[in-house]
Amino acid sequence: MCLHTPPCPSARSLDHEAARTLASHPEQGWSLLCNGIVLFDDTGELLPDGGVIAPHRPTDIPVGVPAGLALHCSVA
Ligand SMILES: [Zn+2]
Repeated sequence: MCLHTPPCPSARSLDHEAARTLASHPEQGWSLLCNGIVLFDDTGELLPDGGVIAPHRPTDIPVGVPAGLALHCSVA
């Protein structure tokens, strides 16, 4: 349970990666966030309910999509 002020975003919120880091293991390539998400070095994520978010580096932009447009879409 988050005791931070202001509270960290929940695992299901859009800005869940902004939660504080509780444990960092760079030698193993992952960090545990306050909201229960395990964040990997390749930007993949493991959710507390067992769900998985595939790596989504900003550099992983589909071929043929202008970088500016892709960034705009991901923000919206
Ligand atoms: Zn917190």
